Amino acid sequence: MKSYEEMLEEALKKLPDVFISSDRYAIPEIEVKYEKNKTYVLNIKEILFKIKRKEEDFKGDFSRIVGIPARFENDILVLNGLVNKEILRKKLEEYIKNFVICDVCNKPETIIIEENKIRYLKCEACGNKKILRY
Ligand SMILES: [Zn+2]
Repeated sequence: MKSYEEMLEEALKKLPDVFISSDRYAIPEIEVKYEKNKTYVLNIKEILFKIKRKEEDFKGDFSRIVGIPARFENDILVLNGLVNKEILRKKLEEYIKNFVICDVCNKPETIIIEENKIRYLKCEACGNKKILRY
C-alpha cells in the first residue's frame, strides 16, 4: 500500500510544468549541443519568437541569469561554458518569469522599453510598468 504522501508525490510528478502545459506559455524543448567547452542552444530563434524577444534584448539578461557570457552566432545562442540542459531550461523559465510575464496580470503580452536609460517591462494587457534591474 502506498501512503497518501507517496500518491500525492506521484500525482504532482505527473503534472506538467506550467510553462510547458499552458499553450500560452508553451516554449519548445531546448535543443543543445556541446562542443569545446561551449553550449550551443540550437533552437533559440524559435524560443525567442515564442516569447517575443529580440536577440539583443535577450542576450544580456539571459547571460546574467545563467552567469556565463553569451553571444549569438548565426541565430544560435553560444554560451561560453558547459551548462546542463535541465539547468538551462530552469534559467529560461526564470528569464520568462522576470522578463516576459507581467507581475500584475500574469500575461506574457509585454515589451521591454527604455526611458531615460532605465529599462522597463511594460505590459500591453494591463499597462503595468516594472523597472528591470541589472
Ligand atoms: Zn499585465
